[in-house]
Amino acid sequence: MAGCAMIQTSDYKNIILFSDAELACPETGMVVLADGFEYSLTTLREDFGRPMKVNSCCRSAAHNKKIGGHPHSLHVWDENYYGLDGTAAIDIATPNVSYAKDLLLMALERGWSVGVGKGFLHLDRRDYAKLPQGIFGYA
Ligand SMILES: [Zn+2]
Repeated sequence: MAGCAMIQTSDYKNIILFSDAELACPETGMVVLADGFEYSLTTLREDFGRPMKVNSCCRSAAHNKKIGGHPHSLHVWDENYYGLDGTAAIDIATPNVSYAKDLLLMALERGWSVGVGKGFLHLDRRDYAKLPQGIFGYA
């Protein structure tokens, strides 16, 4: 489970890790992350070292359906299509194209799959479900 914690990086800047409030399903308030996802997420945030605004992380299957998410979405924690034990996806707002490029490159290098949306990046660990890494866009 994600907690709100401070870590200190080598350059002595304090970075606030993702809080439960940022990651929670808006409908159920639940934060259930797939095994290993919190580690991937917090190390990405720590090394990226810039503010990251979460648009969406955990979703119940009901909430995902309501907002028109993909039926096999890796955001879904309670009825994960791939049999994962929680959410393995997050959407991060991208304030400009340079930020989007830098985050996309870092995420890809670390094994994340990336969906490029208008004003956000979808980042997921589909490799946890033995799916190949990829990049996609939203129509
Ligand atoms: Zn997403």
